[in-house]
Amino acid sequence: MGFPNHGALVNARLLSEGASVRYLPGRVLHHGTDELVGLLERTGRAMQRRFALRLTVGDLSARGGGLVGRHRSHQSGRDADLAFFMRTAATRGPGRPVEPDDYKVFDRNGRSLDGQHVFDLARNWALVQTLLTDRLVRVERLFVSTPLRALLLNHARSVNASPAIINLAANTLVQPARVSPHDNHFHVRIVCPQGDRRCLTGVWQPAPRRRVMPRRRPSRAPTGFGGPRRSNAR
Ligand SMILES: [Zn+2]
Repeated sequence: MGFPNHGALVNARLLSEGASVRYLPGRVLHHGTDELVGLLERTGRAMQRRFALRLTVGDLSARGGGLVGRHRSHQSGRDADLAFFMRTAATRGPGRPVEPDDYKVFDRNGRSLDGQHVFDLARNWALVQTLLTDRLVRVERLFVSTPLRALLLNHARSVNASPAIINLAANTLVQPARVSPHDNHFHVRIVCPQGDRRCLTGVWQPAPRRRVMPRRRPSRAPTGFGGPRRSNAR
């Protein structure tokens, strides 16, 4: 119901941990709409089949939705945070895939800031592709930092991904404005599920605050910032 940043969740479904999905330690919000949870389950299974790795999932929504902890969105069951796939930074060879225990920030070259890990381009691209080609659910946005977006799209071209999927990814991957750049995780938002008529597209904008004009107090001499000038202007 409502917007991702001003909404609620009814008939929530719990995303369970299992053979193909694991929770990022410390994250406790694991409810979403049927559609979101189904998408993550299918995506986890696909990644498990292909790479023998689990999908590491951070926060979805609270069971009833609404404003939670560190998020502005994640209120209506359509948002989920996903950890990047990463490998150990090895001096020789590709490094070992690891299941992350926290989000790690990656720079424009796909190296973690602490130098210990590299952004696993092949697996992260496979993740993007799997999410965007789900047979049941359409992804509205996949938030990620602009440099990592560029790495992913370059990788997609280098492995001759189809122009259609590259286009779709280019239009869906985006660094969000005015919030953290998402250089340490993906944030997936699905479109309003069909039939959920109270689900609203876009984001909620609070009404602009009315400017309160200070009352004149003729009995007192204007003091302080802006006082005299304002009274002259009137
Ligand atoms: Zn998020």
